[in-house]
Amino acid sequence: MPNQRPAARGEIQTVRGPLSPERLGPTLMHEHLLCDVTPPELAAQGLPEVEITPENAFAIRYHWCRDYGNHILSDIAEMTREAAFFAQAGGSAIVELTIEGIRPDPLGLRAISEGSGVHVVAGCGVYIESFAGAALARSVDELAAMMIAGVRHGIGGTDVRAGIIGEIGISDPATPGELRALTAAAIAQRETGASINVHPGRDPASPLQVVAHVAAAGGDVTRLIISHLDRTFSSLDQTLALVETGAVAEWDFFGIESSHYPFAPIDLPNDGMRLNLIAGLIERGHGAQVAISQDICTKTRLRRHGGHGYGHLIENVVPMMRRKGFDDSMIDQLLIKTPRRLLTLV
Ligand SMILES: [Zn+2]
Repeated sequence: MPNQRPAARGEIQTVRGPLSPERLGPTLMHEHLLCDVTPPELAAQGLPEVEITPENAFAIRYHWCRDYGNHILSDIAEMTREAAFFAQAGGSAIVELTIEGIRPDPLGLRAISEGSGVHVVAGCGVYIESFAGAALARSVDELAAMMIAGVRHGIGGTDVRAGIIGEIGISDPATPGELRALTAAAIAQRETGASINVHPGRDPASPLQVVAHVAAAGGDVTRLIISHLDRTFSSLDQTLALVETGAVAEWDFFGIESSHYPFAPIDLPNDGMRLNLIAGLIERGHGAQVAISQDICTKTRLRRHGGHGYGHLIENVVPMMRRKGFDDSMIDQLLIKTPRRLLTLV
């Protein structure tokens, strides 16, 4: 179904064309369906692609940066099946943030959306420099033009349009190229009305630096989502300082129940601990500034390989929210209303 019209302001832009916001149901705000996020050190080893079996699946899942192939999602038929499980669980839409540096496949996303019936909103932009390399050797104007073209005309020369900017990658410390991409994202946001999603550095100071940079570049921080707080913040105070800027706080590791984090000596929270922090924000009146997701980007998290799949948040986390006293309107806010607000072009 190529050459749909672009979405207008007030509409959501999916890989199959415009969608009116009221038709958007439960949404995962930060996922990957087709990507290659193999850590560069691992890719450099030239290993063969690992075969996942019941005997090695736990070890590969636990040490998720050790085995070549675990970070490659490329089988469109298999990923269509995984997306269909999400639809069966009651899921409506997946925000897919695979961008330059981690092998985006916009036409593949459209095929998965058509085959599964799940709405897919694609991102555009550039990931962290260790993955993206030369893609960040462009000027601010060139990077902004690429992102604006992604939303207006299509991603990477295809006719599949982006509906969000990001996940823009920031390292510790941010590189000059990454900061140019962040400035470009703010410019593209002003031009297109799309929200921005940022993958911040792991340093707890990074999220507020990102917010300040986007604000200084003229971006709208109320439409700026800071991803991966699961591995960035450990306290409610850190989180409050972020939402008090107006930005959106995202916990997107739901389903990772292991404390082990292979990139750094950080203790990851489990789903219950994530919800406790979110409950703290809700109590203080910031419930509309929280985004949630699972950030699936490895094979071991797929149902095909014994993982929880894209339906986990709806199937298992929503019941946990009810047990912890989240009411229906707050669950709706987290799964539907906030995604509608952030994905509607303004
Ligand atoms: Zn991601």
